Amino acid sequence: MTAPAAQQSDRLLGVYRMPDILFVRGEGVELIDADGKRYLDFTSGIGVNALGHGSPIVRRAIERGLDTGLIHVSNLFRTAPAGALAEFLTERSGLDRAFFCNSGAESIEGALKFSRKWAKARGGPEKHRVVALKGSFHGRLFGSLAVTDRPGYREPYEPLMPGVDFVDPSDLAAVDRALSRERTAALLVEPIQGEVGVRPLSSAFLEAVREWTREREIALVLDEVQCGLGRAGTFFAHEPSGIRPDVICIAKPLGGGLPMGAVLMSEDIAGQLQPGDHGTTFGGGPLVSSVALAVLRVVGDPSFLDAVRSKGAALGARLERVAAARPGRIREVRGRGLIWGLEMSEPVAPLVGRALDLGLLLVPAGPNVLRLLPPLVVSEGEIDRATAILDEVLA
Ligand code: PLP
Repeated sequence: MTAPAAQQSDRLLGVYRMPDILFVRGEGVELIDADGKRYLDFTSGIGVNALGHGSPIVRRAIERGLDTGLIHVSNLFRTAPAGALAEFLTERSGLDRAFFCNSGAESIEGALKFSRKWAKARGGPEKHRVVALKGSFHGRLFGSLAVTDRPGYREPYEPLMPGVDFVDPSDLAAVDRALSRERTAALLVEPIQGEVGVRPLSSAFLEAVREWTREREIALVLDEVQCGLGRAGTFFAHEPSGIRPDVICIAKPLGGGLPMGAVLMSEDIAGQLQPGDHGTTFGGGPLVSSVALAVLRVVGDPSFLDAVRSKGAALGARLERVAAARPGRIREVRGRGLIWGLEMSEPVAPLVGRALDLGLLLVPAGPNVLRLLPPLVVSEGEIDRATAILDEVLA
């Protein structure tokens, strides 16, 4: 329904295509518009609202944080929540240090800088190149965009950061060749490539690149901004492979909807960073850090992760059923945990629009893939409702 004109501003920069709906409330997996219509949110704010909308856990954490009077202090001084969050994340990742920032793209920028400094200290100034994968998406800033394989996003802003090589992850020999001991500082990998259409990379791939990067003293940077923190059914998406990367970037669900990102890294890399080498005003402030800790205590709980896996399996099975009823039209169902993509043989934008009319929010991943990213607290009943709507959309 049309939102009241006074509430629809034309003053927002037109870089997003927004439907004519005004959301005024959120309750769990549902968003409610100005006319009271309810929508199942299978986007989670693009992977952010892991605990759903209006989560009492997030609300209580914000209230407790506000009770201290400390929303922001600055990284010139210590506050307790950032330290506690760093302890939690380093313990869960097996890495040693955390740097907090405000978004996924910023976490990638940090990872690029940290790994370059580390690699150049080992191999000299020529060891600065970054290898990224075909189909990658790492963000919209000049460094993160330079390692993003989306020509349409890149070209208007070129020249970007130089020194990036793209390689096809399905061609292991090419990946091996691209990783140069003398010239490569870092390899960037999303364990599940999100924006290109939900493409999980195999454990065999992760194991192979771990071995090559270790041998050649190249930082293995995992971008878990979208697939990490419970989304894939494990705390980190790479866990099934058993590898230990050098750097992990996280963001989206970290702050419970408040903006936050983090770079986790090994002591070896952290050891190259001195006071003044990097910084940000807001990153890791006490309020957002205490909210993040509350979110991660829930999301990191083994029984919560078990539930994500079993609900994910249920969602996957229902999507397979939707696909089986339409051979040829749905090319592939891909995903794990609660990140799924339906690759269609047609453009998905009209389907996303039809789903919206029927009360289901979906987000495309590239032109032909419908992506489903429900809050991790979604129920099986809500999964049933969403897949029933999807069936109707495709009818
Ligand atoms: N990396 C991945 C894998 C992402 O999916 C995204 C955003 O979608 C980013 C990085 C950038 O995150 P942000 O939009 O918070 O800058």
